[in-house]
Order: sequence, then structure tokens, then C-alpha cells
Amino acid sequence: NSYLRLSGVHRHYGEGATKVRVLDQADLVVESGELVALVAPSGAGKSTLLHLCGLLESPQEGEVEIVGNKTSKLSDRGRTQLRRNTVGYVYQFHHLLPEFTALENVTMPQLIAGKSPAEANVRAMELLDILGVAPRATHRPAELSGGEQQRVAIARAAANHPRVILADEPTGNLDPGTSDLVFAALQGLIRTEGAAALIATHNHDLAKRADRIVTIKDGKVVPHSL
Ligand code: ADP
Ligand code: ADP
Repeated sequence: NSYLRLSGVHRHYGEGATKVRVLDQADLVVESGELVALVAPSGAGKSTLLHLCGLLESPQEGEVEIVGNKTSKLSDRGRTQLRRNTVGYVYQFHHLLPEFTALENVTMPQLIAGKSPAEANVRAMELLDILGVAPRATHRPAELSGGEQQRVAIARAAANHPRVILADEPTGNLDPGTSDLVFAALQGLIRTEGAAALIATHNHDLAKRADRIVTIKDGKVVPHSL
């Protein structure tokens, strides 16, 4: 199952003398349960690629398919709806709501999506458990360590069963030991849930633990080895 597929994607910014070509005939396929690490220098186009995969931006040419849905002809509204139903996003900084507990931070997106509080609680506890932070369910973000905060943020991103998980430097703010722990938790979650994951990271040790490493070269997404 190819949950994420980019074919012949072209994306540039600006025109004429200021034109910056970021992606040109770029292809990428990520399968269910697969974790792909994206390693490239600053300015190479990692954020652009993640935004295209997350349907926040559209390519000038080519197709982005999420769980078999072609997105090039979707309206903005269709795109937003597909993003909400299929994509989970993990940021470098956790963005948890400070006045709510870990559990509430993970139930909230589910309640917004129309689940009952009981269902949302069961799912939230399941995720906190997979990520090893169930004992912290009733704590507020400020009472959690950086690694715990980030694992709760991953649980929140996964709350509505996204088929595609995108992460931009998810361990960029953590010390090496904690980064390991958080990455392992994320990897376990992706396996358990069968999501397709694309993770941009500067951490080569972590990238090596992914199923594949890719980089961006001459506008293409190409295999990379470290
Ligand atoms: P990375 O995430 O790898 O640092 P980006 O995807 O942010 O790279 O940027 C890739 C290139 O595209 C850079 O040269 C950047 O300056 C340019 N770029 C990104 N977004 C825009 C934008 N909205 N307008 C103009 N140029 C942009
Ligand atoms: P800020 O940078 O102000 O904290 P956000 O928290 O909204 O803004 O997003 C952080 C970055 O992640 C932004 O560059 C945003 O465009 C990107 N982003 C947010 N959601 C998604 C998504 N679903 N797919 C891809 N990129 C996303």
C-alpha cells in the first residue's frame, strides 16, 4: 500500500532572475508501515517537500497522491479535508496546549473530529501507552520532560489514525539520549499503526535506523547513504 506518492512533482518559487527551483520531476513513494528519513542541507527543500506531502502547498506540475487520492484537481476545501483525515504532523517544538493535560491534548483532536469522549479517551490512552507516556496522562505539558512532551505531541498527531505521518526535525530540540528514545517510540508507533512516515532530520544516527534515507539533489528525491 503506497500511502504517499509524488510523481513528476515540480515546485519553484519566484520568477525570472529570482526564480528558485526546489523540486523538478521529483518522485517519491512511501509504503504503509515504512519510515523514510529525509536528510539534506538547509535550503535544499525539506520543508517544501513536507508541505507538498502534507497538502499545505501545491506543486506547479505533477501529482501528490495520499492513500490513492489524487490531489491535483482538489479544491482548497477538498485538500484541507483530506489533510485532516489522513495526515498527522509532528513539529520540532511540541505545540501542546499548556492548560490541558497530556490526555486532554490527545483527546481534543478526536473530539473535534466528532468522536465521543469515551472513544477518544480509549484511543488516547492506547497511544500514550504505545509511546510509553501513559503514566504521565494527567500531567500538564510544563510538568513533563522534553522527551515526554514530544511523545505526547506524537500521540496527538496520531490521534485520528493518520495514514501519513510527517515530521520536521522531531528530535531537533532534544539531547541525544532523549532523541533516541523519542525516535524509537515514533518508529514503534508507525509499525503498530501501519502509517507511512517521512521524517526530516539532521541526526545521522537516527536517520540510519529508518527503513530508507533519501535526499534532495538537482530537484529530485534520491536515495542517500550515510
Ligand atoms: P529546507 O527546509 O531544506 O531548509 P526549504 O524547503 O525551506 O528548504 O527551501 C528551499 C528553497 O526554497 C530555499 O532556497 C528557500 O529560500 C526557497 N523558498 C522556500 N519557501 C519559499 C517561499 N515561500 N518563497 C520564496 N522562496 C522560498
Ligand atoms: P509555526 O512555524 O508558526 O509554528 P505551524 O506550527 O503552523 O507554524 O507549522 C510549523 C511548520 O510546519 C510550518 O512550516 C507549517 O507550514 C508546517 N506544517 C504544519 N502542518 C503541516 C502539515 N499537515 N503538512 C506539512 N507541513 C505542515
